[in-house]
Amino acid sequence: MTHFVPENLPTHLQHYIDGRFVDSVDGDTFDVLDPVTNQPYASAASGKSADIDLAVAAARTAFTDGPWPTMKNRERARVLYAIADAVEAEETELAERETFDTGLPITQARGQARRAAENFRFFADVIVALRDDAYKVPGTQINYVNRKPVGVAGLITPWNTPFMLESWKLAPALASGCTVVLKPAEFTPLSASLWARIFENAGLPHGVFNLVNGFGEEAGDALVKHPKVPLISFTGESATGRLIFRNCAENLKGMSMELGGKSPAVVFADADLDAAIDSTLFGVYSLNGERCTAGSRILVERSIYDEFCERYAARADKIVVGDPHDPATEVGALVHPEHYEKVMSYVELGKSEGRLIAGGGRPDDQPDGNYVRPTAFADVKPDARIFQEEIFGPVVAITPFDDEREALQLANDVKYGLAAYVWTNDLERGHRFSQNIEAGMVWMNSHNVRDLRTPFGGVKASGLGQEGGQRSIDFYSEEQAVHVSL
Ligand code: NAD
Repeated sequence: MTHFVPENLPTHLQHYIDGRFVDSVDGDTFDVLDPVTNQPYASAASGKSADIDLAVAAARTAFTDGPWPTMKNRERARVLYAIADAVEAEETELAERETFDTGLPITQARGQARRAAENFRFFADVIVALRDDAYKVPGTQINYVNRKPVGVAGLITPWNTPFMLESWKLAPALASGCTVVLKPAEFTPLSASLWARIFENAGLPHGVFNLVNGFGEEAGDALVKHPKVPLISFTGESATGRLIFRNCAENLKGMSMELGGKSPAVVFADADLDAAIDSTLFGVYSLNGERCTAGSRILVERSIYDEFCERYAARADKIVVGDPHDPATEVGALVHPEHYEKVMSYVELGKSEGRLIAGGGRPDDQPDGNYVRPTAFADVKPDARIFQEEIFGPVVAITPFDDEREALQLANDVKYGLAAYVWTNDLERGHRFSQNIEAGMVWMNSHNVRDLRTPFGGVKASGLGQEGGQRSIDFYSEEQAVHVSL
């Protein structure tokens, strides 16, 4: 199949500051690679602190001079609905660009565009339905809560499902009345620049949205340390989160941290095995395994362990790995050669830490590009690195357990605590197990499908603070108490 290149693909990506596309002050750029060929297809402006200063100044003026922060919620919501409509109308173009830039299968990239639109609609609905609190002390006082946007929000996002994850921060930040500076991941800057036109057409005033491309250590670091940015919403690796946490301390910034994971999928012998196999395959091999909530450890009750491993491996071997733009593809190309090397190093390590039952390397028919066959290791011990460390690719570790107690111990025996998946037909056990598991989110007998009203976030090394529903709006808002004598 010839490699598909989207029409009108830009060859240069700029920052977007105060309603204008601009290059870096120092003119510096970096190469952006196509993950199928690993050839540069575009250059991107490489932001430094001078560019962040300009972006923050524009966002600050848009915040202090308005009108965005002081608009009625209903008026802001209208703009957010228009953004959602535009994202949906451009689904094909967006999905093609996202697939080209990230290597995600095209069928899955389409879903990401729809979810991005939904995020804007959802947070528009939330602000329209917001209630203000008031407390009366009879005959003495009335105390009311004055909700206001915090200011310029710094948004730092990763390269997996970039457009959708950007929307998950942009939508609540803008809904709350904040102005923003977005620093997207350097591996995948293509889709972020689409926001500028979409926002402009939807009527977002200039300066409310600003975008600075560049490396984390330069542009990201400058944003984190900028004294006029009172809060940082970060999604990325736990190690980066730890560093950002330290850097935010100097200015006592508000922080939301959505970090890494090594989530368990626990399959009890009484589970619907067909459904559990379908879902655990999807859980780690969809989105190329580059999914924060991937069920990358599967714990299986011993009485069904052999059957599970055999059926799982047979299905994993049938997964279609190929060009991300081919609608038949189920696993595309990993995002970048650096990430490919990291994932392949775990595949090699796994051969000494477990029993290889599926995959284990590149597909024979793909000599170039960042392709990895869906890989499964069985009999993985809990002290193995492939059990403990986030691989972030199509690689799974399978481990047997004898009883519920051991399953819980294994499930909780990692530093992460983002998601968990529990498969059992014993509902009492299912609830008991779910409640004891150290994870911010548990899916019981269920795929990873989100309800946007519920909390999203991790515990332990997987994050700090939770997003979702009103929690996201609260993060981007101050609540001021006003006391009035009666
Ligand atoms: P990363 O931590 O390398 O980078 C994330 C972002 O942070 C990028 O924009 C990067 O440029 C920036 N950055 C890096 N160093 C920085 C610094 N010193 N200061 C400021 N910014 C800096 O993560 P990644 O490799 O892009 O993404 C994959 C990781 O993200 C995985 O660990 C995955 O689990 C996690 N993730 C978590 C969630 C969640 O909701 N919990 C969602 C998606 C991805």
